Amino acid sequence: METGKLRDIKSLTLKELCGQLEERGQKGYRAAQIYEWMHRKLARGFGEMTNLPLSLREDLGVWYDYTALEPVRVQESKIDGTKKYLFALSDGNLVESVWMKYRHGNSVCISSQVGCRMGCTFCASTLGGLKRGLTPAEMLDQVYAITRLTGERVSNVVVMGTGEPLDNYDNLLRFIELLTNEDGLRISQRNVTVSTCGLVPQMKRLADEGPKITLALSLHATTDQKRQSLMPIARKYSIRELTEACAYYFQKTGRRITLEYSLVGGVNDTP
Ligand code: SF4
Repeated sequence: METGKLRDIKSLTLKELCGQLEERGQKGYRAAQIYEWMHRKLARGFGEMTNLPLSLREDLGVWYDYTALEPVRVQESKIDGTKKYLFALSDGNLVESVWMKYRHGNSVCISSQVGCRMGCTFCASTLGGLKRGLTPAEMLDQVYAITRLTGERVSNVVVMGTGEPLDNYDNLLRFIELLTNEDGLRISQRNVTVSTCGLVPQMKRLADEGPKITLALSLHATTDQKRQSLMPIARKYSIRELTEACAYYFQKTGRRITLEYSLVGGVNDTP
């Protein structure tokens, strides 16, 4: 990713923001103030940043885009209060996120792409193919918007909504960095789970260079043949290769892998 060209200010690290503002003749401490408004106080726009001079707020609006998602629909479960949010992106695309309240804390499940190109036969998200990957800011603001709307702290984030997160690798990594760093919401890396259908090279790359998050593998079958009938990605990577990638991930990070298995009646549900 060419960070110099990122238009969305919320996708920038504090260091990048500081560098860019200094290039524009601003004092470095302004970056820390802006960063705090975005990632701690969860401001919805430059207008809320009341300790900045008005002229700077206006300039920021010219220099940068600002992602602040608003829900177009919210559905609430009568059983356990789980809430499903449909957010509109600035280009008119829609993404879904889910808020779940548990005894151990609040969890948010976010989407990482608009659509998906992985073609799993049991999944509706892939029917229209992949439209695009979400930016780091768009992933981040699903968490921020839900925090703003519920008024409650989020302690766990799972990247398990629409999209294959490792198919949007660079943006995913930046999102995790922004979500977990100490100048933002400081969500613990251990409380971030990324679910993949099994992109072996990216799983290994994540083991080598990624943060210490939990990796969840969607398995859904115990033989290559069965898996291939459910998930086209299985034609590219065998269960043996997946097992090796999981072992490598564990060896490098010390983090266990979670396996996900959806039972489909008469298809993959024998003992
Ligand atoms: S990778 Fe996930 S989102 Fe994509 S088609 Fe498979 S189950 Fe659906």
